[in-house]
Amino acid sequence: MMKLGYNTATTKENATLQQEMELCEKHGYSYMEIQMDKMPAYLEEHTIDEMADFFKSHNIKLLGLNALVFFNNRSEEDYKAIIQEFKEWLEIGKKLGAQYIVAVPLVTEEKISMEDIKKSCVEVLTELSALAEPYGIKVALEFLGHPQATVNTFSQGYDIVQTVNRDNVGLVLDCFHFHGMGSRLEDLKQADGSKVFLLHINDTDDYPIGILTDEDRCWPGHGAIDLDGILSTLKGNGFAGDLVSIELFRPEYYRMDPEEVIKKSKETMSEVISKYYEIEESVTQ
Ligand code: ZN
Repeated sequence: MMKLGYNTATTKENATLQQEMELCEKHGYSYMEIQMDKMPAYLEEHTIDEMADFFKSHNIKLLGLNALVFFNNRSEEDYKAIIQEFKEWLEIGKKLGAQYIVAVPLVTEEKISMEDIKKSCVEVLTELSALAEPYGIKVALEFLGHPQATVNTFSQGYDIVQTVNRDNVGLVLDCFHFHGMGSRLEDLKQADGSKVFLLHINDTDDYPIGILTDEDRCWPGHGAIDLDGILSTLKGNGFAGDLVSIELFRPEYYRMDPEEVIKKSKETMSEVISKYYEIEESVTQ
């Protein structure tokens, strides 16, 4: 059974976290993923404890916190700051019942060898894994489908999490990022599906590989991504994850009524996913 989640990037500029929490509950989502850059605005009027109470007293639950950015190949000083931030997020995640913290690789114009990228990613993820373990929180590496991202294909990300080899370290498979640098279904087919912790679903306008940007993301089923290929492959290779969230960053949708976006998101993702997975509805009280 697939449980539907909503990533707050999708209404990043047209709704507050509080509005998103209420609207996602109202429209029957099971989970939310919070973009942590929206948290300071929330905390101007609320507290973490209030948010924790909301998730305790409603059907909707927190899936994860997005995203610890640029964790690998950093200076010693930057690295210390990242570890500090991660520790703070673990405390927040524990209060809110988070299952995951998403970690995003360095994006840079500097040329770093594949060997150095892998070495740093493995080292840092191993440390994050150890820190997260007592909290029962998992670390999900999200490869980014952009040329300047240091981890930018499924096979590269998968190789890294396999090398880390910890139960609480796996991948986010974001369909946009999978498509964005031409990740191959054959690589996904050969992977252990249980290492895919979380699926970010979306679609994209049809531009060439390598020049797509997050703003090109569109409703699932309305673009150029082979979602049928990804979903059928995941289903075939033991993707145990019942966890999927829609994640869009489209300026056009930021100009819409947020409730419309949240409704349309659920409709379009359900249509695509229900061909492969049964969807568990969250019952709104
Ligand atoms: Zn994503």
